[in-house]
Parts: sequence; structure tokens; C-alpha cells
Amino acid sequence: MKIKGKIALITGGGTGIGAAIAERFVAEGAKVCITGRRQEVLDKVAKSLPTGVVVTCSGDVSREEDVSRMVLTAVDFGGKLDVLVNNAGIGAPGAVADLDMKDWRRVMEVNLTGPFLLMKAAIPHMIGNGGGSIINISSVGGLRCLPNRSAYCTSKAALIMLTRQAALDYGPYKIRCNAVCPGGIRTAMTEHDFGSVGVLLGMDNDTFFSTISSNIPLQRFGDASEISGLCAHLASDESSFTTGAAYVVDGGSSIVSVVGASITNQLKKKTENEGQIAKPGEVKR
Ligand code: NAD
Repeated sequence: MKIKGKIALITGGGTGIGAAIAERFVAEGAKVCITGRRQEVLDKVAKSLPTGVVVTCSGDVSREEDVSRMVLTAVDFGGKLDVLVNNAGIGAPGAVADLDMKDWRRVMEVNLTGPFLLMKAAIPHMIGNGGGSIINISSVGGLRCLPNRSAYCTSKAALIMLTRQAALDYGPYKIRCNAVCPGGIRTAMTEHDFGSVGVLLGMDNDTFFSTISSNIPLQRFGDASEISGLCAHLASDESSFTTGAAYVVDGGSSIVSVVGASITNQLKKKTENEGQIAKPGEVKR
């Protein structure tokens, strides 16, 4: 119960990583306000949690009036606001020359302006309350390039800098601000985005996901619950001296160069074939 008594606002809390964060925060003793575009999706998550610990507020993070409503709903519900998790995000395919202007603007509005508006609305409440913790869900795509994702990666890189800037400006008010950079986590977003590339390459989803996984040191995609644990730590007083950080949670994918990843796989196959290392389930003596 490391965040017992805290009040948290989680955007995009109806699905994937956001829903996992809501569930984890409640398990750790917090009360949560979950927001998202579709009320029925939020209701489903709220129903799965104990009564009295969750409130919902539908709206669009890129609209200032919706954002004010979200923050006020959280404050009315809990009497204060301790934690803000900017998790809502979208992707759009396209390299610079062929990216639709509408898609560029929308990605920036949701992934960058949205967190900015929420921070702008939440920070005065946190200052009034003597401090708080802001957690911005960026991406490994904010640190490394992904093919054909110019808007997404740019927005997530800018979100890391916005995080650091807020950490500097509001440190004196005891507001901590950190970014979390997930690698591949299997959610509706990755099923859709990666799945469509798989289709282009003539692979079904499972084959495509296992092909990519072979280049990740831990050899798999992550689960949303593997992001929510770190968020609970960052929301809690356990991380009281941590601010302005960008945590990578990616199964090790960003530590390997593209050359290194393919060499690692070839070596693994060779040593397994030659019986030099144990295969899963086999004990080498
Ligand atoms: P998801 O599609 O399940 O979640 C995104 C959520 O954002 C949804 O609930 C959606 O309703 C909400 N949302 C989108 N636009 C919105 C808007 N304008 N206003 C309000 N809510 C809006 O995908 P996810 O994988 O759970 O992604 C959550 C976050 O994690 C995103 O910011 C994403 O960029 C980031 N991320 C995901 C991965 C991954 O592999 N899944 C990797 C790195 C970063």
C-alpha cells in the first residue's frame, strides 16, 4: 500500500497501460480519476475496481475545457490532487514528406499539448497541497527513431524535455516530474500499429511479434503491468529524491545496436545448435 491516501488522475485510463496503472494504483491504496475519450470504456474499468475508489471523466486531453473538467473532477472526488499520469497518446504513420498535416497536428495535440494542458491545470492544485508527482508516459520512440513514425517520435522526445523543464521549475514546490519510456508493450495500440506492418510483410500478428521479439534482449514484448509497477514507485514517497528522470522500460531493446541485435541472434542459434548452451527446460552439466 505504498500510495495509500493519495489521489491520482490518469489520462487514457480506460485501456492498455492506463487501465493497468489505475488497477495498480488502487491496489496500492490510492483513489483514482480515470479519463479517456469513451465513457463506456471508462465505466468498464471503473466497474472492475472496488466501489468508492474510482471516478471517471470522459473528454479530450487536447481541449482546454475538457482538461479543466478532468482536474476539477479529481479534486472534487479526493479533496486534493497528488499524482498526475499523462498516459493518453496516439500514433500516426508517416515519414516527413508523406505525413499528412492533419495527422502531424493531431499527434502533437494529443501527445504533447495534452500533457502540457494537464500539467498547467494540475500544478496549482499540487502547489496548494504542498507538492505532487507528475508521470509522463513517453516512449523509447522519444529516445530512438522508429521507421515511419516522425510525428510520434518527435512528440515523445518533446514530452521528455517538457518533463525535465517542469522538474526544474517546480522542484522548489516539491513537485516531482518524471518520464517513463516503454518499449514494446502488447496493447491495442501495438496490435494495431505493428500489426498493420506485419500485414504489409505478409505475416500474421503472432509471427510478426515473435520476429521482432527475437531482437529484444529479454526476447519478448512487455505487459502493461510491467509499466504500472514503476509508475506506482514514482507516485510514492519511495521515489522522493527522483525528478527529471526518463526511465526506460523496454526489455533491454534500446541498449542494443541494430548490428548487435542481429549478431546476438545468429550467435544464439549457433550455440544452441552446437549444444554449447542449454535450451529452455534443459539443464547443462
Ligand atoms: P492505448 O491505445 O490502449 O491507450 C491510449 C489511450 O489514450 C486510450 O485509452 C485512448 O482512449 C486515450 N486517448 C487517445 N487520444 C485521446 C484524447 N485525445 N483524449 C483523451 N484520451 C485519449 O495504448 P497504450 O499502449 O496503452 O498506450 C498508452 C501510452 O503508452 C501512450 O501514450 C503510448 O504512446 C505509450 N506507449 C505505448 C507503448 C506500447 O508498446 N504499447 C510503447 C511506448 C509508449
